Amino acid sequence: MSEEKRKRPRRLAIIKREACIGCAQCVPVCPTDAITMDSDSVAVVEAEKCTGCKKCVKACPTDAISMTGGAPEEEKEKAAAAAPEQARPESDREVWVFVEHTEGEPAAVSWELLGKGRELAGDLGGCVCSVLLGHGVEHLVREAFCYGAEKVYLIDDPVLSHYRTQPYLHGMVRLIEKHRPEIVLLGATTMGRDLAGAVATSLKTGLTADCTGLTIDAESKLLEQTRPAYGGNIMATILCEKRRPQMATVRPRVMEMPTREESRSDESHSGETVRENLGLVEEEVLVRVIEYARGEATEGVRVEDADILVSGGRGLGGPEGFRMLEELANAVGGRVSGSRAAVDQGWVEHERQVGQTGKTVRPKLYIACGISGAIQHLVGMQTSDVIVAINRDPNAAIFGVASYGIVGDVNAIVPALTRACRARLSSAGEGAAAAAGEDE
Ligand SMILES: Cc1cc2nc3c(=O)[nH]c(=O)nc-3n(C[C@H](O)[C@H](O)[C@H](O)COP(=O)(O)OP(=O)(O)OC[C@H]3O[C@@H](n4cnc5c(N)ncnc54)[C@H](O)[C@@H]3O)c2cc1C
Repeated sequence: MSEEKRKRPRRLAIIKREACIGCAQCVPVCPTDAITMDSDSVAVVEAEKCTGCKKCVKACPTDAISMTGGAPEEEKEKAAAAAPEQARPESDREVWVFVEHTEGEPAAVSWELLGKGRELAGDLGGCVCSVLLGHGVEHLVREAFCYGAEKVYLIDDPVLSHYRTQPYLHGMVRLIEKHRPEIVLLGATTMGRDLAGAVATSLKTGLTADCTGLTIDAESKLLEQTRPAYGGNIMATILCEKRRPQMATVRPRVMEMPTREESRSDESHSGETVRENLGLVEEEVLVRVIEYARGEATEGVRVEDADILVSGGRGLGGPEGFRMLEELANAVGGRVSGSRAAVDQGWVEHERQVGQTGKTVRPKLYIACGISGAIQHLVGMQTSDVIVAINRDPNAAIFGVASYGIVGDVNAIVPALTRACRARLSSAGEGAAAAAGEDE
């Protein structure tokens, strides 16, 4: 067979004239200007200019364009997708957790996800690993072991000093392509969301954002990724069956913080550290960091850090209701938050909104006042340690997640609660002072 004959024909776009509706949507998407419209308003491809990129195929609303020649794309994609499973025995499957940090200061969500990752790795029969990119971040390797990592993949390079999408994407993709994890988890933070989307796109794999639940299906061993869908009206469980890795992001405080085990920081008890090179130099990075400035501290407003939250909804009836909540919050040493309905009314700032489109909180005590308990609110607070709900409707959904429920009018109950808390705390204070006096 001659060399010419063995060569695979070049992939080219071809137009089905009868199917073309003359919309010309394929013309601007062609990067080489290979498509023009003829006098009958039918698209025509100039074969010499066509690179076979398939952009016109995707743009055509009537499937009038197809490709001819070239390697069967689907077959290539299937082979690439199947490769990770073929390469890794089940016992070797790894769950990776990205360690997010700002100049070496770790984000707590990384450890929360390590706790969940450990559980998933157990069900998968594999191991949980941290993936750490940065410069001068050796101390975080130790921390990752303390929070349960069995292995840490590390790229330490000055190019990674500050977060920039391009070098972090490069590092992550390099590590994933080489070591082929089964699952990759990142925090649904500004950084995690940016990086996860870029990595998933680059690897052509699936990504489920803002998961509220992660489990392993006992039979298929696939990652079941649960998140609110259709505006939060249903909880959808999403699977990524054909591509690897399976990727998910989870908001801070959705997963429980695991116990830090100091004994695991000892080298003899910790796991393996795999060091890799970034393979990218500063000159190749398109973005320069000129200055790094931290945003203004929002202490006092950060509801996600509060141990006690007094939260108000539409049932408070107006902004004055929130002044009443402020008094209760002061009495118990907590902060005020609200439902979206209250935020939309302008009774409380948006930074304090709890729920799907607000903050996810996990305080020790969450007091819900005049909040019905819509699913979009519950996903943001239902993992709080203790939930007290005050609502005049005994059938309100909030009672379904409450540890203690009070059926009644917030305008009567909240002030009574405030008085009772003040009285209790001041008598406790007097008792302590008296005890201290006796000791003297
Ligand atoms: C895509 C999407 C995202 C969303 N994101 C969020 C989100 O992040 N956070 C969020 O909170 N919501 C969110 N929502 C809105 C959500 O669906 C609800 O509309 C909202 O949570 C309702 O707020 P609420 O409970 O304060 O008000 P309502 O549902 O109106 O409930 C008021 C409650 O107060 C009680 N009540 C009334 N008067 C009194 C009284 N005097 N004393 C005691 N109880 C009283 C009533 O019985 C009722 O149960 C979202 C919706 C969508 C579609």
